[in-house]
Amino acid sequence: MQIGDLIRRAGAQFGSAPALIHEDRVVSFAEFDELTDRLGNALLAAGLTAGDRVAVLMPNGIDGVVAYYAIAKAGLVRVPLNVRETASEHAYKIDDSQARALIHAGDPPASVEVMITADELPGLIAGALPGPCDIRREQDAPFRLAYTGGTTGKPKAVVLTTRSELAEVANFLVDLLPNLRPDSVMLHAAPITHGSGAFFLPHLVKGAPNVILPKFTSAAFLEAARKYRATTTFMVPTMIALLLEDPDTATADLTLERLCYGGAPIATSVLQRGLDLLGPVFAQLYGQAEAPLAITCLQPWEHTPERLTSAGKPYTFVEVQIRDTDGNVLGPGGVGEVLTRGPHTMSRYWRRPEATAETVEPDGWLHTGDIGRWDDDGYLHLLDRRHDVIISGGFNVYPREVEDALLTHPSVIEAAVVGLPDDKWGERVAAAVVTRSETCPEEILEFCADRLAGFKRPRAIEIWPAIPTSPVGKSLRREVRDRMAAARQ
Ligand code: AMP
Repeated sequence: MQIGDLIRRAGAQFGSAPALIHEDRVVSFAEFDELTDRLGNALLAAGLTAGDRVAVLMPNGIDGVVAYYAIAKAGLVRVPLNVRETASEHAYKIDDSQARALIHAGDPPASVEVMITADELPGLIAGALPGPCDIRREQDAPFRLAYTGGTTGKPKAVVLTTRSELAEVANFLVDLLPNLRPDSVMLHAAPITHGSGAFFLPHLVKGAPNVILPKFTSAAFLEAARKYRATTTFMVPTMIALLLEDPDTATADLTLERLCYGGAPIATSVLQRGLDLLGPVFAQLYGQAEAPLAITCLQPWEHTPERLTSAGKPYTFVEVQIRDTDGNVLGPGGVGEVLTRGPHTMSRYWRRPEATAETVEPDGWLHTGDIGRWDDDGYLHLLDRRHDVIISGGFNVYPREVEDALLTHPSVIEAAVVGLPDDKWGERVAAAVVTRSETCPEEILEFCADRLAGFKRPRAIEIWPAIPTSPVGKSLRREVRDRMAAARQ
């Protein structure tokens, strides 16, 4: 089966029902099938051939989605670029992926053989051959390239295949969104280039519309959620924190069945507040670019007080292990690296055989780089990224635990904990926090004294106006560390 088959079948089954909604524009299932056929035909007519990479730099909207699935039908490889990144980051990815075409809104960050502007798309589609565009590819041939966040170096492209795409859809339908139906409504509040995009096909195949917000603000989200009676949405934890800060959230009459969140650790205090305000609608996903959004999930009914620090259980058709540094598989309580295996994982890193060999075992097990442990009931608890673990005086300090403690302070709204070089201890713990009211670092330090063992307590706390975040809203600890280290030199 090909991804294009899903679109064709939805077009035939759900015809004139709305498939995509963005501001005043509505595209039906049948139209979406036709638009993607036509643009796919136009891309082939422009000289592109199966396997060519096509970079797409478009804001959240219908044209970007049409471009994605035209590329799918034409046997081409999508390289989504996030509009919030800089031109030099875009240029790097276009070059690294060896893109032959670029579909873009705004100034092009680089020049490639086939350039298509957003303004040209309607004309191109109108002038293209009608009729099915159906270039079929092997299940394990590249379908799209997803760039990693690059939190540890230059972003690497993850090669995802038709097999991994179909597995992701299936995993969602089996575990996360088993109740989708034509009157479900997906509200895309986060960039479709990233996590939210994974929700597009599961809704499409079940005849449910995908509503796209151009840009997330809590007000825009609440308005659209009410207007369209949204049942599903996806947010990264920082978006949830913003939503909960909005006084209107408490009284918003929402129809959400699943507020899915993931992509980064969530503070327990934020999650608890969300549950209090919005009820048992939260569903957590743990995944990564290399294993898109489907390693474990924590279901709404599993959000009990003792489980709020857990990332849930493996998806039904996904294998997960925790191993120590010698490769031994660990049982409950043992702390080690999380590995996963299944059709959902990447096939490899694009043009980086050494990185692939370090990450994927010959038998398919993928090293996630995350440190975790199982509890006695089979729930996974993630401690932190392997690279972010602070080693102070020989003890491991997981920044997330310290951040969680800081976030229980009533005036702390954001926290980033890092390790700074220390002559005596190797590394010492330091924190940057954003506060909502007048408070001083000494007061927060004192607050930590009751909550954290001595070696975990920050030696320094700085109050910052904001914590630097990546374009998808993850806090960038590396930048925090660099800034703090530079200021100390
Ligand atoms: P990316 O590849 O940029 O999507 O980043 C994936 C990483 O984000 C994972 O390896 C985890 O470290 C982190 N992450 C994703 N989902 C969760 C989650 N639910 N809880 C904690 N960390 C998460």
